[in-house]
Amino acid sequence: MSKTTDKQKELDKIKQQILSDEIAPELAAGATQLVFGDGDPDAEVVFVGEAPGKNEDEQGLPFVGAAGRFLEEMLSGIGLRRSQVYITNIVKYRPPNNRDPYPDEKMAFLPYLKAQLDVIKPKLVVPLGRHSMEALLPAGLKISQCHGQPKRYKDQVYMPMFHPAAALYNGAMRQTLIDDFSRIPLVLAKI
Ligand code: URA
Repeated sequence: MSKTTDKQKELDKIKQQILSDEIAPELAAGATQLVFGDGDPDAEVVFVGEAPGKNEDEQGLPFVGAAGRFLEEMLSGIGLRRSQVYITNIVKYRPPNNRDPYPDEKMAFLPYLKAQLDVIKPKLVVPLGRHSMEALLPAGLKISQCHGQPKRYKDQVYMPMFHPAAALYNGAMRQTLIDDFSRIPLVLAKI
């Protein structure tokens, strides 16, 4: 069996584990479905957003609304399609009215996100926004200061970036995100 198929099976097991462990039952009760992740299980780059929104909750896939279209546009700018990367979120059920995820919700999902990353073994993890950055990297980092800078932490290279939804309608932040994104191929080549 191919490595990709094996990895997909491992990912499917983690998804089932979230369901059987009944993670974040209050969020689960208000959500349509679990939004686990999407893309190539053998990807070199994994993007980690905050939590599903309305479109994601309906379709069961991460980043399929306006922020997702922007993400895909930036991927295409570096010659990649979303099927060639892996996209997920720290919190995997839609919070009510798109409120920010609570710290205990992020902590509840973190072991499963780490398990996903352990299976995929990407060269680079890109936390999108402060929620996934704070969950994955040591406390005290400010996204406004460390965005676009690769850092190695516990044997994994991370490059935090602004969240595409926050940057979508903010001209300066949007350009910063596009610029940070354009550095991904160079960063990958150096890892
Ligand atoms: N914003 C996120 O953080 N994740 C999604 O999946 C969609 C929008």
